[in-house]
Amino acid sequence: MDVSHLIDSLNDAQREAVCAPPGHYLVLAGAGSGKTRVLTHRIGWLNQVEHVPPWAILAVTFTNKASGEMRARLEQLIPGGTQGLTVGTFHGIAHRLLRRHWREAGLPESFQILDADDQQRLVKRVVAGLGLDEARFPPRQAAWQINSWKDEGKRAENIEHGQHPVTRTLVQIYQAYEDACRRAGLVDFAELLLRAHELWLKQPAILEHYQQRWRYLLIDEFQDTNALQYAWIRVLAGSTGQVFVVGDDDQAIYGWRGAKVENVQQFLRDFPGARTIKLEQNYRSTSNILKAANSVIERNGGRLGKQLWTAGEEGERIAVYAAYNEQDEARFVIERIREYIAEHGEAKDCAILYRSNAQSRNFEEQLIQHDIPYRVYGGLRFFERAEIKDALSYLRLTANRHDDAAFERAVNTPPRGIGDRTLDVLRRRARNERMSMWEAALSELSMGNELAGRAKNAVKGFLSMIDEMAHAFAPSPPRGEGWSEELGLPKDSAPDNPSPNPLPGGERANAVLPLAEQIDHAIVQSGLREFYEKDSRGNAESRVENLDELVNVASRFEMTPDDIEAGLNELSAFLSHAALEAGEGQGESWDNCVQLMTLHSAKGLEFPLVFLVGLEEGLFPSQRSIEDEGRLEEERRLAYVGITRARERLVISHAESRRMHGSEMLARPSRFLGEVPPSLVDEVRPRVQVSRPLYAGRFAATPPSLKEDLPVKLGQRVSHPSFGEGVVVSAEGSGAHTRLQVNFESAGSKWLVAAYAKLTPL
Ligand code: ATP
Ligand code: MG
Repeated sequence: MDVSHLIDSLNDAQREAVCAPPGHYLVLAGAGSGKTRVLTHRIGWLNQVEHVPPWAILAVTFTNKASGEMRARLEQLIPGGTQGLTVGTFHGIAHRLLRRHWREAGLPESFQILDADDQQRLVKRVVAGLGLDEARFPPRQAAWQINSWKDEGKRAENIEHGQHPVTRTLVQIYQAYEDACRRAGLVDFAELLLRAHELWLKQPAILEHYQQRWRYLLIDEFQDTNALQYAWIRVLAGSTGQVFVVGDDDQAIYGWRGAKVENVQQFLRDFPGARTIKLEQNYRSTSNILKAANSVIERNGGRLGKQLWTAGEEGERIAVYAAYNEQDEARFVIERIREYIAEHGEAKDCAILYRSNAQSRNFEEQLIQHDIPYRVYGGLRFFERAEIKDALSYLRLTANRHDDAAFERAVNTPPRGIGDRTLDVLRRRARNERMSMWEAALSELSMGNELAGRAKNAVKGFLSMIDEMAHAFAPSPPRGEGWSEELGLPKDSAPDNPSPNPLPGGERANAVLPLAEQIDHAIVQSGLREFYEKDSRGNAESRVENLDELVNVASRFEMTPDDIEAGLNELSAFLSHAALEAGEGQGESWDNCVQLMTLHSAKGLEFPLVFLVGLEEGLFPSQRSIEDEGRLEEERRLAYVGITRARERLVISHAESRRMHGSEMLARPSRFLGEVPPSLVDEVRPRVQVSRPLYAGRFAATPPSLKEDLPVKLGQRVSHPSFGEGVVVSAEGSGAHTRLQVNFESAGSKWLVAAYAKLTPL
């Protein structure tokens, strides 16, 4: 058989990994050395040479985008196609398992995924319900703690809190939150994994089935697996599965979210006979870029130590731009992008990478102004926008009346006269009688006496509106036989049915009406469209546009073979995609757009032209990491990830003054910038500047060059009619366009146009 397409394009070390005999392998190698390529070709090799059928292979990637790319690549490598092959993220795979085995996992069939924002709202209600002080137990932190426990595989009852009262209360919140989720049929992100893991442990027949099915496990970005994911792999591998993991300890950037880089070494201990293969040649970047990356990461201690070299060209030097402020930074970056597009025509080759989502706005404004198409990954994603979640909450309720998170959102958006007092009555009843809000509402209507007539009518109106909506979508015919039958499991093997007496309203709605029409119908019937049309708060129009776009997205939506295999109906599949993909943009990938994303989400990707922006102390590295050596090293790895995304050109920028948290702050260039050897750097447009203790390292040596035609001298004390007294610290432009930066004693730092500034020298 001709397998040259699998091995010809590989170097010796890569080929060794791809063609290795059966066993466990760890491919440990630096950025851009072909780890992902090796993993993909290994799958091709297993299939073509070892005759492993696609359905026996499970490949785990870090993002949905990466899964899509891997599958597309595999389609080319495997002549018979990838049907039956499982490629996905841990969350995606766990989700599919739970859909297939909802009964055995103790979930209602129509369970919904709770995203981070809804989770926090639910925790908030739980905290209030327990009569706790929100200031002492902020919902955000409580949710974070719950997720960490889940990531470690811990349930509330397994947590030892000893005598510590705060921990004890947090465990209590965790317990109450779990109850609330169970009643409402909701599953948060961390729960997906934990449930699926428990499913393995509690249902040996199911575990055995998957152990026999997935005999080949391949995991990309292994350095960022957390304790639960690692346990998951171990359990699934059992004694027969063969595990192939690839990773780079220098790119471990999710420690703050519980990832354990120690898993890399643990792997060698836990999997008998596991071999390590190292790759050392980088194929991605020019040698200047690679040298810069190496020189930054070298400062970290405790590395596993890998060499990385390239046969590639030296390439251009790294351009560094010191911007006056964040707007100037954005202007500069977009100018460069325009030049690049004019020369090469490809917007998608350009990526702007930043430390925090909030930084994207300035770049977006500039891109809009210049009519350059762009796409933001992360940030406030489409499916996380309030109006989109409002609309989806109606659909969720029609699918599952006990979804309390959806109930709380839909019940008063748009407002329909169901006040907080009414809701409190329902919440109390729900809590006391351990029922969902929907059940509490029904029960209050039929036998309660706490609500006044008007409130009752409003609640009744809401319930019947949802019922009518569900009716319009049409109830489902019974679904075909599920996986449990195929496995020979008894039908009633569910440990405890969360909703033993489902109400008549609890039946599942299925897509008789096409999905897009369901959504359109819900948007109109709920009054959401009218509400947002009338809404006078600023961007009402774009909210209505977003609702229209939701209908469009739904009309283009197609179930994947995995969805169908998991037995999802169209609505459930759509809602799950909305929740799971919220972290990665809008699902659709537009063709030729500038890419904007955080450094965290750039992992594994590459672009010909990369802008690393905001390299300032306090921003990157972040303020919190500066005080903690461990965190600082993680930030440095993030810098390494950022630099190594660039193939041909790298541009780094920092602003001398930046508006953060509502006030102007002076910022020093990031230490990571100082760690790049000066010989590799081209400073862009050295400019007027006074020597002030802004710069560290080599920047301190930059001599201040003064301009002759300035109206005032740099360093001069001045007074301004509104801002008071200050010192001129910097200047830009010339003649009528001269702008001055003045540090005012009370008003802070300001940029002023010299011609209009009414400054009086003192
Ligand atoms: P990261 O650590 O960033 O995830 P990686 O180690 O997974 O990087 P890949 O993304 O697999 O690296 O490869 C980096 C680039 O080098 C890709 O464009 C890939 O196609 C290319 N590449 C890898 N190996 C070779 C090779 N032997 N010959 C030519 N190009 C290669
Ligand atoms: Mg990779």
